[in-house]
Amino acid sequence: MRIDILTLFPGMFTGPLTESILQRAQDEELLEINFHDIRDFGIGQYKQVDDKPYGGGAGMLMRADVLVDAIEEVEGRRTKDEGAKPHKVYLSPRGERLTQPKVETIARDHEWLILVCGHYEGIDQRVIDGGWIDEEISIGDYVLTGGELPAMVLIDSIARQIPGVLGKDLSAEEESFSAALDRKKEYPHYTRPDEFRSLRVPDVLISGHHAEIEKWRKENLF
Ligand code: SAM
Repeated sequence: MRIDILTLFPGMFTGPLTESILQRAQDEELLEINFHDIRDFGIGQYKQVDDKPYGGGAGMLMRADVLVDAIEEVEGRRTKDEGAKPHKVYLSPRGERLTQPKVETIARDHEWLILVCGHYEGIDQRVIDGGWIDEEISIGDYVLTGGELPAMVLIDSIARQIPGVLGKDLSAEEESFSAALDRKKEYPHYTRPDEFRSLRVPDVLISGHHAEIEKWRKENLF
């Protein structure tokens, strides 16, 4: 899976995407993440990327001409290289709410994503209406300052679905909201010690009876 991120703040991604499982996925070439600074496509000496909204109102909007130049540059580069077509996503509070089935669909259907992170009041609607965006995705019904955190949430959730990313001991199959758990929330987990400050692990889990353990887990889905 390849993901190209268009952002005004590429530095925000250091840490969340360069540690632990996501870094290993990139090292093992299961996941390729490229950053593109929208400012590089800005206009004039000051590399302007935003402007006042028509009709007035507070805040600034990201300009369509700047964003479309950035999207076409990234899209063109790849299309020429590999003949592939990207799925272009704008992270937006107005978008379809991200759920586990949605994450699974995106991971299954797309090899290449371009993620557009908005800032300020958002982006000029013509970027969406003109076909430069295939889908708007929201990570929840609240407003953040920019699309960078939503992009990281989307990438992390999708990366877990890529075969091999979680390693052989871990599986994304039996998790909260997975089809294997009927889209319910997972049962409780315990590890050693058996007793901690007079709180005991349920006896069935240390009994060694696999059928009983499975039954207990099914009964204890949230
Ligand atoms: N004016 C917009 C509105 O009221 O819907 C909010 C713009 S928000 C301050 C700036 C950017 O943050 C958006 O363009 C979007 O990329 C991102 N963003 C904020 N909240 C988000 C959410 N819940 N899901 C996805 N992206 C979000």
